[in-house]
Amino acid sequence: MTNMNNKFEADTGKILDIVINSLYSEREIFLRELVSNASDALDKRKYLGLTDKKIAISSEASEIKIEVNNKDKTLSVVDNGIGMNEEDLKSSLGTIARSGTKAFLEQIATNAKDKKPDMSMIGQFGVGFYASFMVADSVEVLSKKAGENQAWKWSSDGKSGFNLEKADKEDVGTSITLKLKKDAKEFLEETRLQFIVRKYSDHISYPVKLHEIDKKDAEIKTLNEASALWTRPAKDIKEEQYQEFFSHIGAGFGKPLLTMHNNTEGTISYTNLICIPSTRPFDLFNPDRKSSLKLYINRVFITDKCDALIPSYLRFIKGLVDTQDIDLNVSREMLQNNPAVAKISKSLVGKILRELKKVSEKNADGYKSFWKEYGAVLKEGLYEDAERKEALLDLCRFSTNENDDPISLSEYVEKMPEKQKDIYYISAETKDQALASPHLEGFKSKKIPVLIMTDAIDQFWLPMVGSFKEKKFTSITQGQINLDDLDEKNKDKKKDDKNEKEKKDKEYVDLVAQLKVVLGDQVKDIRLSSKLTDSPVCLVADEGDMDIAMEQLMAQRDTNYKGAPRILEINGDHSLIKNMKSLLSKKENNDLVSDAGTLLFEQARLMEGKMPADPAQFSKIMNQFLLKAIPN
Ligand code: ADP
Ligand code: MG
Repeated sequence: MTNMNNKFEADTGKILDIVINSLYSEREIFLRELVSNASDALDKRKYLGLTDKKIAISSEASEIKIEVNNKDKTLSVVDNGIGMNEEDLKSSLGTIARSGTKAFLEQIATNAKDKKPDMSMIGQFGVGFYASFMVADSVEVLSKKAGENQAWKWSSDGKSGFNLEKADKEDVGTSITLKLKKDAKEFLEETRLQFIVRKYSDHISYPVKLHEIDKKDAEIKTLNEASALWTRPAKDIKEEQYQEFFSHIGAGFGKPLLTMHNNTEGTISYTNLICIPSTRPFDLFNPDRKSSLKLYINRVFITDKCDALIPSYLRFIKGLVDTQDIDLNVSREMLQNNPAVAKISKSLVGKILRELKKVSEKNADGYKSFWKEYGAVLKEGLYEDAERKEALLDLCRFSTNENDDPISLSEYVEKMPEKQKDIYYISAETKDQALASPHLEGFKSKKIPVLIMTDAIDQFWLPMVGSFKEKKFTSITQGQINLDDLDEKNKDKKKDDKNEKEKKDKEYVDLVAQLKVVLGDQVKDIRLSSKLTDSPVCLVADEGDMDIAMEQLMAQRDTNYKGAPRILEINGDHSLIKNMKSLLSKKENNDLVSDAGTLLFEQARLMEGKMPADPAQFSKIMNQFLLKAIPN
């Protein structure tokens, strides 16, 4: 093709490159993508037709045609949907809408290395149209937008750019014509086309009709069932049909973790056909990522942007809700505050949480995969949805320093020693980091399990929720935790213990005083620890101060953020601390003790993933110590 008057955006070119050179055995999916777009276009026209009679189209007239021209070796997918004008063609077929798409596709392409990447998921990334170039040397899109007079023709060879010009077209809608590649002639065969449409597009609500235009008297055949899948009885629907339906609506591919197809009648009536995809979408944690649950009113697609339909902590739920209990003429904006939508949402959330509970009880492996993919999102509900707190806490799972498989809070509480009052947790960026923390030492030696919190959201819901079954959530990096109190054996010795502790505190008074002078206001306090066994020191947050992990989050957001000073806990049983104490009592080498104190403090910071407070001073003292260890 010559004479391209528009260049592809750099990203588009790159994506086309990846697509065209991708997995050829999956080429047939191009048809699924084109039919899917045609069906979306019909949905849009139907919706707009509700309020604008000029562009309305009857249900009977809505259809998708596959036109085969054996002579010219072309295949066209024709719809009488909403159509595209010049602007639409430029923006929809020349740019990549969703951020992150390019990076993600590049990643699949690189990961695939020797094998060709699996492009069957392409529809998920809002680039399904480009799949046409897997089978076509060139593609022509002829389109006339509903309500407009001028038609436009977009054409491209999928390489450098596209051509866009005015054209003639009588009917509203879009006709996409592929000039098939030499090795793609199979897509002219009726049986092949029929097979593909049945396989991927049977659930489409509009008829998909095959039309062999250069064959005389060829009958026009409808290739699909052409009734909305969710209106059929669940017992008549095969698992594969559900799967194809979900992939059509961008829920990813393969068997979902959970499929729910129910009809609810009562104060509010609706049908839901929803799933939890087996893997989470790549942008689930993107801040603008919202739910995309589709709302249909009486089988007319209304919107997939109704946030009131499902809370954001269930945004991984894909599928649709169809109801007759909302007025078709209600505007999309008004839906947000519509009482019927609120009722459906409430009922649906309850249903989903109950279903998840069932899975957690009956299918341990399934629930484990669910939790791994979506746990961090579901936990947002603990923060946002006070009403469902109990149900959500019940569904939560946590790793501990003792278990590889995450456990429920009930399991944790059941195993608590009698004297343990609180639910202990430690926050860190990764599980490994948590396991290496000195704070865990005493808990490990006393075999008290500690929950490991590695998701950012944990820092928000924990203070909000506060407790589970009257057991307080307690961070082991915050406040004073006296593990000796928890020793079953020590039951009767409590008084002795107290005396013992006082005695020990006294022994260390001088060292603590000396270190306070050295560290000044870098620390809030210095005290003996009851939870360290192997490490000489650690830093803890004071009772009312921000926990360490939360402070790290704040610091990520604001580089100038300086948290409150920490409390330095020292381990009176550690030889280093003991030696420092005796050295000090001899009043011989105060400076050495002071320098050791500085090093230990900086070390404790390093263990938390922080830079030394004074890197230059740290290095200087460190080198002095090294020199003593490595003498001439
Ligand atoms: P997606 O369908 O995920 O948005 P596609 O690459 O399949 O991504 O399509 C890009 C866009 O092009 C669509 O969102 C739509 O706006 C437009 N489009 C494609 N095909 C048609 C069609 N047959 N009628 C109207 N618009 C279409
Ligand atoms: Mg598409």
